[in-house]
Amino acid sequence: MAINTLFAAPLHLWDNYQGPLTQAFAAHGLDVALAPDHPPATVDYIIHGPGGGLSDFSAFTRAKAVLNLWAGVEAITGNPTLTIPLARMVDTGLTQSMREWVCGHVLRHHLGMDVHILGQDGQWRKTLPPLAPDRPVTILGLGELGRACATSLAGLGFAVTGWSRTAHSLPGIRCLHGDDGLSEALAGAQIVVTLMPLTPQTENLINTARLALLAPGAVLINPGRGALIDDAALIAALDNGHLGHATLDVFRTEPLPPHHPFWAHPRVTVTPHIAAETRPESAASVIAENIRRSEAGEPLLHLVDRTRGY
Ligand code: NAP
Repeated sequence: MAINTLFAAPLHLWDNYQGPLTQAFAAHGLDVALAPDHPPATVDYIIHGPGGGLSDFSAFTRAKAVLNLWAGVEAITGNPTLTIPLARMVDTGLTQSMREWVCGHVLRHHLGMDVHILGQDGQWRKTLPPLAPDRPVTILGLGELGRACATSLAGLGFAVTGWSRTAHSLPGIRCLHGDDGLSEALAGAQIVVTLMPLTPQTENLINTARLALLAPGAVLINPGRGALIDDAALIAALDNGHLGHATLDVFRTEPLPPHHPFWAHPRVTVTPHIAAETRPESAASVIAENIRRSEAGEPLLHLVDRTRGY
């Protein structure tokens, strides 16, 4: 009997995912009936994307797992109607994309590129930025994405510190963890990248006191989640000159409303949640592999710990 799999993501994604998912199911030897509209009581697996309209899982009495298309799960992890396992997306395409976005924006600020890109006014402006080993960069979050970015930046020669909830050990990276490690990780950092999930523990983690620990003129780069940062504290630190720039990819409200002060702030760069998009071709294999595992009685990959919230 075919495995009924519901595509519960925004419908405009159906065209992008239908082909890659169908191919991946075949490559994994799975007989899957994939559709955006199976009757709930007949569904075996739910492929979920935020904005797909599904918020009550109680009618999916036969479903064995929810497979999220996104890496972040804050929109679903606290849903009381969801009682079956939830797997999130860890995808090579997504990780590579985040690595490129973060390295690009770190290098922009490290090299002071704006001086030359924005200042094409006939002035011969020579600058001599420090080399990467003299630029302390801190990555908050050493998960799939934080580790990839930290490793790439260390590979470019940056003095990288990473911070996480539990202890990690990564070659060439100063690894700190826990509440005690956070102040040390932020102290004197010139560039900070926030790559944590949004949980009750991480909400507003970047506040006035923590921004004050950064080096004067530091740059904050946030591709994690908007609510990791206290927006008012961020704007105050930019306005009083302690913070040199903020490059923000994620926001409390998305799309960022047209009149939000971030758009007009001279020291804020807004990018429209583009740091790392899930890539249908590579993500389809992750989904298929998890269905294969579940059907074979093997543990799912990338399971979310619902008590931890990520
Ligand atoms: P992950 O593998 O789950 O890693 C999360 C990291 O954050 C881990 O190192 C974890 O510590 C740390 N962490 C969690 N709670 C913490 C706390 N209270 N204190 C200190 N550290 C804490 O997640 P990921 O795949 O790297 O993704 C990170 C986030 O990036 C996602 O949740 C999502 O919000 C965001 N994201 C954004 C985009 C975009 O396009 N902008 C794309 C994809 C993902 P431990 O290692 O100790 O567990």
